[in-house]
Amino acid sequence: MIASPPDLIAKLALYSIDAIADMIVWADREGRYVCVNKAAQRLLGYTEEEFQGRRVCDVDPLFDEARWREHWAELERLGSVTLETVNTTKDGVDVPVEVTANLVSVDGRLFNCSIVRDITERRRNEAERRALNERIYQLSITDGLTGISNRRRFDEALASLVAQHARSGKPLSVILIDIDHFKAFNDHYGHLSGDDCLRQVAAVIASLMRGESDLAARFGGEEFACVLPGLDLAGAASVAERLRSGIAGLGIPHAKADGGHVTASIGAVCCERPMAQTSHGLLATADALLYRAKGEGRNRVAVARL
Ligand code: GH3
Ligand code: MG
Ligand code: MG
Repeated sequence: MIASPPDLIAKLALYSIDAIADMIVWADREGRYVCVNKAAQRLLGYTEEEFQGRRVCDVDPLFDEARWREHWAELERLGSVTLETVNTTKDGVDVPVEVTANLVSVDGRLFNCSIVRDITERRRNEAERRALNERIYQLSITDGLTGISNRRRFDEALASLVAQHARSGKPLSVILIDIDHFKAFNDHYGHLSGDDCLRQVAAVIASLMRGESDLAARFGGEEFACVLPGLDLAGAASVAERLRSGIAGLGIPHAKADGGHVTASIGAVCCERPMAQTSHGLLATADALLYRAKGEGRNRVAVARL
């Protein structure tokens, strides 16, 4: 500190204490308020006189006698402690605060001198940042058109389920779905109707996922993919058939298709025994089965085990 007369320094210090935005509170060993600055009176709504009859435990709902004694003991050990807690205003509003408490000896008496900062804004910013991050994450794994999972999410899930299958040996099924004659649908009804059709098909596919870890995603264009852990060959065949009939059952008119409505062809592969399968291997087999279903006349399912 610059050398100045002590009484000038004292005046300046007093002025600063009341000009500062943070609360400065002095409490004795019993937690009784001894001295508070203007910010404490303003933020908590108590007058200086009202503070005098109060203790920290009266204002801080997270502090009781025992907690205060613990806190004091910690201060005796460490000299200074920073913690986050809550102060309740006279009007009953809980304010999150960050407290930097210091044990100070004045004229042979020990005091707790705490700088108490209102962190409402910080908490709000943190909550907003968390919500924003969550929103960005959801967007990054969601298909913008249909609202179901996207290819990125599918690839991640498949890789992790393939690894899990290799460890557990439990069955793992993968299903690929491709809308039939969709180019002709777009050409005939227009791209926007095509988009609407994709949304309806995606919704049916998603609604037919049952297991906790089942995942349906838009694989690309007019193709969808499902990964179904724990589902054996018979189960995969049955889900694939339900997907086929569910899509056909939407009854979306398709003047350029054989049956007069939108259908899909499906390839389903099941890995029943533990074996070193790669995601790529499973998808390639499902794709070959899908190609077979197309070749056999579309609106059908081809299933095989690996
Ligand atoms: P197949 O029965 O052999 O599957 O024939 P297809 O016409 O369905 O297959 P093809 O691959 O020739 O055409 C797929 C079409 O899907 C072409 C493309 O215009 C359409 N498509 C891909 N993505 C979208 C999209 O996001 N919206 C719309 N409306 N159409 C899409
Ligand atoms: Mg296709
Ligand atoms: Mg197609």
